[in-house]
Amino acid sequence: MLAERVAAMRAEIERELVACGRAPESLAILAVSKKQPLAAIREAYAAGLRLFGENYLQEAAEKFTPLREEGLAPQLHFIGHLQSNKAAKIAALVDCVQSVDREEAAIALGRGAERAGRTLPVLLQLNISPSERFGCLPDEAPRLAERIRAQAHLRLDGVMAVGPITADRGAISAAFEQAAKTFALVGGTTLSIGMSGDWREAVRAGSTMLRIGSALFGARPS
Ligand SMILES: *Cc1c(COP(=O)(O)O)cnc(C)c1O
Repeated sequence: MLAERVAAMRAEIERELVACGRAPESLAILAVSKKQPLAAIREAYAAGLRLFGENYLQEAAEKFTPLREEGLAPQLHFIGHLQSNKAAKIAALVDCVQSVDREEAAIALGRGAERAGRTLPVLLQLNISPSERFGCLPDEAPRLAERIRAQAHLRLDGVMAVGPITADRGAISAAFEQAAKTFALVGGTTLSIGMSGDWREAVRAGSTMLRIGSALFGARPS
């Protein structure tokens, strides 16, 4: 049962937070629902989850538009690769874009937010891993943060990063420490690091938002 997995996961995360001397309220869980059917999202919502992450615009619109029309209030975060030609539609649909990794995409997103008549919260996506294709390199992050802040209709809230795919737990921790250091330079309130396989290292490095998919929903249907 999804509700049981959610409860078990919350308890485990809380134990880790306490072990780090952190307050349980200092961390949010974003349920990554990509490739999961609408029924699973409804179940997660019923279990109390309110933050959801999706990677693809069309899939996100197909699932979350009906939920909103029913009067449910999920907060939708876009965590997939941000294509400039889809930025306007994404800006109109979601509550936050976590994957702003270059100036061109920030400009397109800012224009889309303006057209939608809103100020859109965003995160700067940082690349801390040789196995990750996207994201801005740490050295370039302060400059990109400046460019994002120059967009009147975007509000930069922090940093998102995907950890390295490796069995070396020390390398994962080191990458997350680097993300935390860059987050301190960029500023904001949200450090979105940690997924199903590396959330403990992320919590220890100071994550304020875990993005959890398979550990909550089970393996993604292919
Ligand atoms: C798919 C995805 C996740 C969730 O991954 P799990 O390993 O299933 O928890 C988190 N963040 C991003 C950017 C993703 O694409």
